[in-house]
Amino acid sequence: MSIATLPLTDTDALRGLADAVACEVVLPEHPDYDLLRRVWNADIDRYPAAIVRCTSAQDVSAALTWCVENAAPVTVRGGGHNLAGTAVADDAVLIDTALLNQVVFDTEAGTVTVGAGCRWGDVDRPAAELGVAVPAGVVSHTGVAGLTLGGGFGYLARMYGATVDHVVEIEVVVADGRILTASATSNPELFWALKGAGHNYGIATRFVYRYVPLPGLATVRQALYAASDRKALLSYFAEWGLNAPANQGTYVRLLRAPEYWSQIPAEHRGEPIISVATVFYGDPADEPAATAPLFEQAAPIYESLRTMPHVTLQHATDDEFRYGVAHYWKHTFLSELSPEAIDTIIENADAYTGRALNSSAHIAHQLMCPFEIIAGSRTPRDSSNDSTAGVGAPFAANIGADWEYPGEKPPLVAWAKAFDEALAPYRKGTYINFTSVAGDEAVARSVYGDKYDRLVSVKKEYDPGNVFARGLVDLSDNAGDLA
Ligand SMILES: Cc1cc2nc3c(=O)[nH]c(=O)nc-3n(C[C@H](O)[C@H](O)[C@H](O)COP(=O)(O)OP(=O)(O)OC[C@H]3O[C@@H](n4cnc5c(N)ncnc54)[C@H](O)[C@@H]3O)c2cc1C
Repeated sequence: MSIATLPLTDTDALRGLADAVACEVVLPEHPDYDLLRRVWNADIDRYPAAIVRCTSAQDVSAALTWCVENAAPVTVRGGGHNLAGTAVADDAVLIDTALLNQVVFDTEAGTVTVGAGCRWGDVDRPAAELGVAVPAGVVSHTGVAGLTLGGGFGYLARMYGATVDHVVEIEVVVADGRILTASATSNPELFWALKGAGHNYGIATRFVYRYVPLPGLATVRQALYAASDRKALLSYFAEWGLNAPANQGTYVRLLRAPEYWSQIPAEHRGEPIISVATVFYGDPADEPAATAPLFEQAAPIYESLRTMPHVTLQHATDDEFRYGVAHYWKHTFLSELSPEAIDTIIENADAYTGRALNSSAHIAHQLMCPFEIIAGSRTPRDSSNDSTAGVGAPFAANIGADWEYPGEKPPLVAWAKAFDEALAPYRKGTYINFTSVAGDEAVARSVYGDKYDRLVSVKKEYDPGNVFARGLVDLSDNAGDLA
């Protein structure tokens, strides 16, 4: 056993925790405590009682067992990217999986085993060397665990589906301390629940994914257009984006152009604009004809075109989504984009009072911006083998309020809530991984739809005492009691 490098000056109880595990336990006095308690969203500033830096599933089991026996509240951290910051809570024991960071490929089986503390960049880079990928998210410092346990989708989703579609096995420590294997044949009901509502049932320690072949180079085309073209472009996108072939994703964003963007005509600086971007996988020579119909709908005020390997694309927005910025995000799945919904979107996007926080003067293909809508496909993916409900819906819409100074927060949060409410008539679910509200039964029902009751019953079997009460939603039958 090695414990914190500083003497454990805290309570006797925490001394017991350090004795119970074979890994480091970091207490508030430790010089790294402040660094280790932080998560990606700078709006989250919480002080756990202790941080257990697990190096094995056995450490996780020992720490969890100690917490259960001592009635200590528990949180779990993967990559720490969650908007609601549910990986960390004041005065709780934070079970940190960051050191479970091994990535092992089995090229015979076509699988990769990934420690729960990995970020997607840890997987993407060695996968690219083998010419393969695990379909996942679009920012490389996002955690493997949280993204997978909530569903997961990114640039490859239209070709290959959600991240959970590629999970073949999960090792998980459940509330009574047992280390279980969950798969289609071992604890299948737990496996089903973990693939979508996984933040509620235990602590995943490793994932096994079946990887896919890389579909060639990615060509990213982006154009910016004036505010007056927004309605026409959104209406066209609503049909065209859904019908596009699977190797082509379409992303539309509404934002206010920063005053300092010299690369667009002066009359559009500081004004609302629309960004249209496509990501095309395959022979770059085929890309112009494939995407032209969309980009020809109006006259752009800026255009860019870049071709890159998938792994480069996976890192392309890492700096935009940097640490140290505060966020409040909402998410809505939509099954259609009606003219009324488009009017609502434009009206609410225009009401954004925040500043454009994208760091570089170069216009990236993806911007930290107040509204983004992504085209899925006309036929939603089959989610019968997992607990996701909306993942793979025709449209995914993100409302994002981002700020740097605390004084900027109140109007932005109010704006995001009002926008979200305005979209309620069109909502067909919510993506658990993209919402800042750790929630009650209403949120849980919006996320899991008619799978909610089955999830509650799996919860009773594997976590009857609701040890994992501080997850993203409460799936115990006490739902609503969450602070
Ligand atoms: C910049 C950015 C980009 C994103 N892009 C995408 C994207 O392209 N596609 C997409 O699908 N999502 C995306 N997301 C959302 C992302 O999937 C969620 O934020 C997810 O929760 C992040 O997982 P994490 O492990 O980093 O987070 P954490 O905050 O560590 O964990 C999230 C939740 O999962 C729980 N948890 C963490 N690890 C474990 C574990 N081992 N066992 C059990 N529970 C655990 C935590 O307690 C917490 O409740 C993005 C988020 C951000 C901030």
